[in-house]
Amino acid sequence: MKSLICPSCNKGEVKDISGLGRRMHFRTIPDLEVPVDIAIPTCTNSDCGEEWLDRTVATRVDEAMKAAYQAALTSKAEEAISKLKKKTPQRDLERLLGLSAGYLSKLKHGKETTAPLVATLMLLASDPRRVEELRSLWAMEQPREVPSVKLVAHTSSVEHPTRHRSKVPSSSAPAPVVRLRAVSDKSETAETQLLSALA
Ligand SMILES: [Zn+2]
Repeated sequence: MKSLICPSCNKGEVKDISGLGRRMHFRTIPDLEVPVDIAIPTCTNSDCGEEWLDRTVATRVDEAMKAAYQAALTSKAEEAISKLKKKTPQRDLERLLGLSAGYLSKLKHGKETTAPLVATLMLLASDPRRVEELRSLWAMEQPREVPSVKLVAHTSSVEHPTRHRSKVPSSSAPAPVVRLRAVSDKSETAETQLLSALA
C-alpha cells in the first residue's frame, strides 16, 4: 500500500492493519471483535489511531462484521439456552416464547437468529426465575394482585354511603348510594361532596 500521512493528525502513517484485538460497535454489540484477517487502513500514531475506510474497504469490513455478528448471536443464544435447559425443559421454553418445536435446537446448530430473541433468552438466563414470571405474565387474568385491590375499593364504597345516608334527606338518598357502588375512590369523593351539598 502506498504511504499516506494521516490527514487527521498529520503525524502518523496510514497502513493496512490486521490482527487480533480490534473491536468495533456493531448493531447491538458494543465491542465486537473485527475478524483477524480483515485489514483496515489505520493511522500508526497511537494518539490518533484514526481508521480510513474507502467504500471498497467499508463494504468488505461490513460483510465480515455481519458474519462475526451472526456468530456472536449464535454463541450467546447457545450459552443462554444451555443455562436455561437446567431449569426448564426446552419444549416448555419454546412454548413460552412462541417458537415451534425444535427451534431452539436449530439455533444451537447455527440457524440464523435475531437479536430480539437472543435478548429475551439472555434476560431469562441471567435470572431463570423469570421463566416462571413469564409464564404468569402470559395469562390474561393476573390472579395475585387484582382481586385484593378490587376488594378494598368495594368495601370502602359500601361503608361510605351507609355513613352519609343519615345526613342526607331520605328523598334524595337512594340514587347516589346505588351509583357509589360502581365508582372508584376519586368519584366517590366528588359524590361525597355532592351529598354534603345536598344536605
Ligand atoms: Zn492520525
